[in-house]
Amino acid sequence: MKIRAILFDLGNVLVDYRPEIFITRLSERVKIGKEKLVRYFLTSTADIEYTEGKISSDEFFKIISRDLSLNCSQEEFWDFWCNIFIAKHEMDALVARLKKSYPVWILSNTNEWHFEFLKSRFPVLDMIDQLFLSYQLKCQKPDEKVYEHVIRKSGLKPDEIFFTDDITVNIEAARKSGLRASLFKSAAELNLELNQMGVL
Ligand SMILES: [Mg+2]
Repeated sequence: MKIRAILFDLGNVLVDYRPEIFITRLSERVKIGKEKLVRYFLTSTADIEYTEGKISSDEFFKIISRDLSLNCSQEEFWDFWCNIFIAKHEMDALVARLKKSYPVWILSNTNEWHFEFLKSRFPVLDMIDQLFLSYQLKCQKPDEKVYEHVIRKSGLKPDEIFFTDDITVNIEAARKSGLRASLFKSAAELNLELNQMGVL
């Protein structure tokens, strides 16, 4: 089946992200050990609820601030939370090339603060035709509901959509829903694969 749309994951595919920068800066500011912060963010449900749009940005900060007894402002926290992304110029170039022939979409597990921040500073997002964002869908990968939503919205057959993501379970779930899915390793490997498939 011919590919008719390209669906990208965002984090570590179109932009790199470094959550350890957030942990280090927050730790230094609020004088809480990095290990404690990592443990908190790995086990707290606030992060999941925020990613699934079940709580607002203000509520997210309030919960974290209360749980960790933070002594920093919401503005400071926002700065630590958001300033973790790094552009990937080789992916910007690939998106620009693909966009000449295909609609290019994003399917991302993300939250309002991260996405708004990325949208304001990373021009690659201006090239994207359609966004499927967990906090707006109220649901995240690898839940099959997410992929079914994308397929329904697209009006395409599942195997007309090429999807790439750096996380194996997201790829496996996408394949179960019928998408043509490929684990992302690097821009070079993705370029090669798209060439071999006759997409580029
Ligand atoms: Mg990712």
